[in-house]
Amino acid sequence: MAKKRPVPVPADPIAGLVDAHTHLASTGGDVDELVARAVDAGVERICTVGDGLDEAELALRAAQDNDRVYAACAIHPTRAAELDDAARERLGEMARDPRCVAIGETGIDTYWITHDPERTAPLEVQEEALRWHIDLAVEHGKALMIHNREGDADLMRILADAPRPREVMLHCFSSPVDVAREAIGRGYVLSFAGNVTFKRNVGLREAAALAPAGQLLIETDAPYMTPEPFRGARNEPALIGHTARVVAEARGMGVEELAAEVGETFGRVFGL
Ligand SMILES: [Zn+2]
Ligand SMILES: [Zn+2]
Repeated sequence: MAKKRPVPVPADPIAGLVDAHTHLASTGGDVDELVARAVDAGVERICTVGDGLDEAELALRAAQDNDRVYAACAIHPTRAAELDDAARERLGEMARDPRCVAIGETGIDTYWITHDPERTAPLEVQEEALRWHIDLAVEHGKALMIHNREGDADLMRILADAPRPREVMLHCFSSPVDVAREAIGRGYVLSFAGNVTFKRNVGLREAAALAPAGQLLIETDAPYMTPEPFRGARNEPALIGHTARVVAEARGMGVEELAAEVGETFGRVFGL
């Protein structure tokens, strides 16, 4: 996916946008150029994520080098077996860095357990890694950034009985509306990605309408999850405006108003 051609023209600029979850180092191309294209589209702040230790280092470096970029650091659930003692020690150091604003993405991913167990970690290893990351977020007062793919029941169970981080953000929210209701009731923040723009995902737009102000974020999850009308092209932070428009419409508000609301939530969740 990262090798796909970039979309030539960014969305019409919308002032004050944020991208709450993206993978700058995996998108391909120069990080500064990706950020510059995002800025041209109105994006003010970006949280970039590493899904392994090397990628987390790159995310942190991008955040240290660029005022508009912040980092989230963790080992992705499908790679949970990589969370050895050395990784735990290094992630502990990263969590102390002021440019690391979230611990993530961590969580539960049962999709690959079902489809190709070689490509992922067993559920108990994922659970142990998730609990370790939760403790790290609590210890350092950072937001917890959750990845969830077909893991609703296990995820909600673990989050309910683990210590509570300052903020819990469910990145690329893709669960049914009843899970959205439960998550909102618990005070979690739902972050919507490009799949909220897909025609068939009526339930995601319903969930986006349900989330109160302060419990909603938007993200690209680039290079994945490219929004309509660019599905199939490479995703990047400059395309967040398409998702913003769809979410604003679902919430019955203007897109500038949505950008302002979501910008405020971004600042609070990431402690800026
Ligand atoms: Zn994810
Ligand atoms: Zn991601």
